Amino acid sequence: MSCLPIRDNRNSPPVTDPKDQKIALMGMTLEQLTSQMNELNEPTFRANQLFGWLYRSCVDTFSEMRNIPNNLKQKFEKKFIVHPLEVVHVTGSSSEPTQKFLFKLQTGEMVESVLMRDGDRTTICVSSQIGCAVDCDFCATASMGFQKNLSVGEIVDQFILVSKASLTRITNVVFMGMGEPFLNYDRVITAADLMNHQDGIKLGAQRITISTVGIVPKIKRYVEEKHRYKLAISLNGSSQVSRLKTMPIAKKYPLDKLLESIDYFSSRSRHPVTLEYVLMAGVTDAKEDAHKLLDMLNGRRCKLNVIPYNEIGGKYSHPSDERIETFINVLEKAHFPVTVRRSKGTDISAGCGQLAVMESAA
Ligand code: SF4
Repeated sequence: MSCLPIRDNRNSPPVTDPKDQKIALMGMTLEQLTSQMNELNEPTFRANQLFGWLYRSCVDTFSEMRNIPNNLKQKFEKKFIVHPLEVVHVTGSSSEPTQKFLFKLQTGEMVESVLMRDGDRTTICVSSQIGCAVDCDFCATASMGFQKNLSVGEIVDQFILVSKASLTRITNVVFMGMGEPFLNYDRVITAADLMNHQDGIKLGAQRITISTVGIVPKIKRYVEEKHRYKLAISLNGSSQVSRLKTMPIAKKYPLDKLLESIDYFSSRSRHPVTLEYVLMAGVTDAKEDAHKLLDMLNGRRCKLNVIPYNEIGGKYSHPSDERIETFINVLEKAHFPVTVRRSKGTDISAGCGQLAVMESAA
């Protein structure tokens, strides 16, 4: 579920030939760093040192790595770089509640993250792909089509570079930027593992949320693999028919199969799944939709986040206050927790209307 605006990479700088690139160390696991050190005939403990410099000290250069000898630093300079991303633009100041960061990849494409501060909580929304193949009708990113999966380093570096620029410590991560995280499954999980690693960034598993539109086989795999990160699923419809209005992915993974996978998650997880429901005027905001949601979800272990649509000038619009009130009143009979969030992110055009989604999930 994207929370970010479209970034049209057709105007990006020319793509660099991958063979001309140095290898980015950011995003490497301890095992991968160890294998790099083996190739250089260096002892294994150098990999542990590098891991600490990358993910605990968050250095930008090899010269800052004080316990690495100079001759080895020179070898590193020839072969590696620290960051695969470069910050090219920041919208908003560090005193504002919301900032948007634009990064350039080594290959020239652009990608974005959003940082939000709310009380004690500082949340970063990271992207997992450039563009997206899922084609949700309300999403600006969808019109880019799919361009590429981000590497582990390109995902983790969004966190590292934004945390270096933030005056407050990042407390939460949501995978709700550009792209469908479960269509870049392995890299997203490795990136989350690096953010959670006790010798590195040390972000608690329940402070990391992976949001999906409902890629059913990947939800099942996620459960089988026993990952502990929070799972959020975009429902955005009270029935198969209404879901199909805005989410063509529902054709491939129909609502009954999605509900089965949600139940499977609930049966194996200590934590409830978070379901996101965006209220779009005249599309998903009818009183009958609220009743259908109650029928569908009462008896299931879940949390529901209701998010009035954050307009971006497209064909969907924000419901009236009256329609929102009516919808919420029906949900008072819910046996599951319901939260309603109003968007605060439109001032920086943060997205396809879904900025509020990541706020409520974090
Ligand atoms: S098209 Fe759908 S899955 Fe893809 S980024 Fe947009 S909201 Fe997320």
